[in-house]
Amino acid sequence: MSESTQIGNRKETRSILNEYGIHAKKGFGQNFLTDPEILHRIVDAAEVTSEDNVIEIGPGIGALTEQLAKAAGQVVAVEIDQDLIPVLEKTLAAYDNVTVINQDVLKANLPELIKQQFTNPDKPIKVVANLPYYITSPILMNLLSSPVRWNSITVMMQKEVAQRLTANPGTKQYGSLTLAIEYQMEAEIAFNVSRHSFIPAPNVDSAIVVLKQRQEPLSVEPFDKQKLMGFIRGCFAHRRKSLWNNLQSVIGKDADIKAKMTKVLEQIEISPQVRPEKLTLAQFISLLNAFHQEKLI
Ligand code: SAM
Repeated sequence: MSESTQIGNRKETRSILNEYGIHAKKGFGQNFLTDPEILHRIVDAAEVTSEDNVIEIGPGIGALTEQLAKAAGQVVAVEIDQDLIPVLEKTLAAYDNVTVINQDVLKANLPELIKQQFTNPDKPIKVVANLPYYITSPILMNLLSSPVRWNSITVMMQKEVAQRLTANPGTKQYGSLTLAIEYQMEAEIAFNVSRHSFIPAPNVDSAIVVLKQRQEPLSVEPFDKQKLMGFIRGCFAHRRKSLWNNLQSVIGKDADIKAKMTKVLEQIEISPQVRPEKLTLAQFISLLNAFHQEKLI
């Protein structure tokens, strides 16, 4: 491969995979992007500039990494598959602002990694990645529960998961993942990507989601963030059942508890018969806080 060749096209991708005897590993969610236009659009959607520190999760053979290296100040790419490390050493040899780390991103200490790897760790930190589909939600939850204040998170995922992240109340895609994201970030689908843009082609289409820090503060704050997330997950455990039925599993079924729960629901004017997917984030927070005041949570 010549240094001027762009990695992310079909011919070059096949030739690199052949040269290194690499077979995409399903277990690591490996689907390599082979469309240069999509690579550019991802970097544009993330608004990467030379002032940015970028963390890429799963660089693969380096197609997106190369475009990030051209646009960003510095790139740190975390790849779990050690077989890809020699490939990345070669494909990214021309870029001295890229560091590849062979690690499982779910086990990484992100604040430490940022402090150790970036020359200017105080510059904006952006995450840009074509995520392994099998762990999209755990990776997002990990990023959001870390103390790092991400400037933005621009990630490719299965289209259906992207729709869950950006869903409105009352739709079938709306659920605990939507609310966990909404609690901290504003999510927007930038564009969709066909399954034919990858080698090998996955069974699903994809979308790029851009997450940015919320501009508007929440109208009500929960008394405890972790409790809120657990409470919401509990309320969605049986989405076809009413809120009342779910609340009994989350809080309890004793007559005394039920009487207190009824009082709280009346006070904040939420019908016990409503389905959980009808409630807004603010309503879940009000419910949690009111149950806490009644010492039910
Ligand atoms: N960025 C490349 C591209 O766009 O062509 C590859 C994307 S591929 C969908 C996902 C990448 O994430 C693979 O390289 C895979 O080995 C890597 N990966 C999977 N699980 C990971 C984990 N827990 N930590 C870090 N990387 C992981």
